Amino acid sequence: MSLEIELRSVTKRFGGNAALDGVDLHVPAGQIHAVIGPNGAGKSTLFGAVAGELPLDTGTVLLDGRDVTGASPQRRVRLGIGRAFQVARLFPTLSVRDNIVAAVLSRQGKSLVFWSARAVRAARVEAEHLLDELRLGDLTTRLAGSLSQGDRKRLEIAMVLALSSRVLLLDEPTAGMSPEETEATVHLVRQLWAERELTVLITEHDMDVVFGLAQAVTVMYRGSVLCTGDPETVRARPDVADVYLGG
Ligand code: ADP
Ligand code: MG
Repeated sequence: MSLEIELRSVTKRFGGNAALDGVDLHVPAGQIHAVIGPNGAGKSTLFGAVAGELPLDTGTVLLDGRDVTGASPQRRVRLGIGRAFQVARLFPTLSVRDNIVAAVLSRQGKSLVFWSARAVRAARVEAEHLLDELRLGDLTTRLAGSLSQGDRKRLEIAMVLALSSRVLLLDEPTAGMSPEETEATVHLVRQLWAERELTVLITEHDMDVVFGLAQAVTVMYRGSVLCTGDPETVRARPDVADVYLGG
């Protein structure tokens, strides 16, 4: 149940600086699409535009052809946009399982005060399933704040999935990970993509990750799209190498 994402002429300025400057992006439903480019290129701002975290200066955001430009982040979550942040946002003093339970209950729009015992029981069952799927089952009772970088990211992805996401937005998911954790994360993303028919939008520094995972790559530079294409074509372009050499 994946979702198509489209941005048309999206501009976002911070003061005089255009973090996004007329960006067009098309991610077909069910694609793994990587956004790459040097620091400050606008990748995280682009994710913010998809997730609805920033008011745009100009442009349009479409999900499955529906104009959501003015829609709140909460509304977009309900439409299936799942955002995993560059720095994981978890409840560090809750257990791994209770983090997922909180995400499930928030999806159901249940207020903290009015959770029924039955709703919590059902959410716990769902949480256990998700934890098994993401191979976090051994860590159920651990405090989220005590997890390794790799396990934190797994938990964060589990929380996004607990929101019934149809799109996974992953902003540098392997930052700070060991090679083993990076490999496990790549494997997990591919597994979830295949099993759950997700659309995946990912930014990455690690080019092995990008070219091992993505079906299409968009290169950003100074707020603009330099090019979009299949990984091999993008990799072979001399102007892409120039951008990374500080051109
Ligand atoms: P990337 O993720 O590719 O490293 P960002 O999207 O974070 O790039 O940033 C793009 C540009 O926008 C940078 O010049 C950055 O300094 C600027 N920028 C991003 N967020 C803000 C903000 N909240 N306030 C001011 N400037 C910002
Ligand atoms: Mg960033």
